[in-house]
Amino acid sequence: MPNDKPVSQQTLLSHDLRHEKGAVTPPIYQSSLFTFSDYDSMIARFRGESDQPLYSRVDNPTVRALQEKVAALEGGEACLAFGSGMAAISNAILSVLQPGAKVVCVNHVYPDTYRFLRGFCQRFGITTEFVDGDDEEAIRAALPGASLLYLESPVSWVMSELNLNKLATLARDAGAVTIIDNSWASPIFQQPLLCGIDIVVHSASKYISGHSDVVAGLVIASQQHIGNIARHISPFLGGKLSAHEASLLMRGLRTLPLRMKQHHQSGMELAQKLRAHPQITAVCHPGLAPKSWSSLRGYSGLFAFEVTEQIDIPAFCNALQYFHMGVSWGGFESLVMPAISVINQASEFNSAVDFGVSPRLIRISIGLEETEDLWNDLQQALATATRA
Ligand SMILES: *Cc1c(COP(=O)(O)O)cnc(C)c1O
Repeated sequence: MPNDKPVSQQTLLSHDLRHEKGAVTPPIYQSSLFTFSDYDSMIARFRGESDQPLYSRVDNPTVRALQEKVAALEGGEACLAFGSGMAAISNAILSVLQPGAKVVCVNHVYPDTYRFLRGFCQRFGITTEFVDGDDEEAIRAALPGASLLYLESPVSWVMSELNLNKLATLARDAGAVTIIDNSWASPIFQQPLLCGIDIVVHSASKYISGHSDVVAGLVIASQQHIGNIARHISPFLGGKLSAHEASLLMRGLRTLPLRMKQHHQSGMELAQKLRAHPQITAVCHPGLAPKSWSSLRGYSGLFAFEVTEQIDIPAFCNALQYFHMGVSWGGFESLVMPAISVINQASEFNSAVDFGVSPRLIRISIGLEETEDLWNDLQQALATATRA
């Protein structure tokens, strides 16, 4: 690098060191294993004295190129990539817990994270106390004896933002490791490691991919935490990322700052317009009431709003032209997801029910379409769905 100034995220993403034969993107190493030229080099690898790739369940050069890029982007020492966000989350959580451990987790976490803690972890004697992330006193009271404080910010559905610096300090004082799900903000808008959080996890299926064609996950932390996962957890759970998907994620990353800028602009504009609409009673978007202590540098395109009883919610969803109905978010395409559809799901540990998500809440993911087209679409669908 030409000078010592920290390189900007976009510049970091636009350049790699030259790959083999001068390639500007990492070659896709579609190989399950990597062989050794002689006995001594194989033994050196087994002893951990060489970093030659061995076997793609534990290490692959294309995946490694992605991991190095993402670690730098989050401001972390090291990264491990996984075949899904849930693989990243379960590996990170299991790496810091022993049987009988206690976890403190904020309300409104991603539904499968909630089920993992309530169902799977409970089977191994791990108990989780769920607390309101805004309630500092409740968190302080819950922390003694806990090994892990698990966070998401802004939290799912209600989109309230947590004070990461404060929570990281509280956890450290209580001897608990902190993990945060940073999928919503992406490393472009929030770098939790710089706030003192220990481990960052991502569903890379969302903004980091950005093209709705990959399911993947990432964990970023210190060498020590990542080394622990790589030695004691991930080889046995086996949730590896494929070289081909790593390559697609590298491709998505090249434009991540540009896409996030657009999601921010369109999301803010539509949140403000929706707030002024007579059939809308509340808009849950952290940018509408920014906190003085905020660690967010911008806002992504996922937020929610509550509609009056006048609005027929299924009719609203059906009337939309550009917002397709579906789970997930963070892609180029706009999506709509009414809370009532998950409240009515007959699932064990239904977080929307347990945390009391309003049945009048509707979540939207703003894609990369022209904002004016999206606003016209929302307006016509609201008009169509208004009961006489
Ligand atoms: C989608 C999502 C996950 C799970 O990620 P997958 O890649 O689907 O396994 C975790 N956390 C959040 C906030 C998500 O939106």
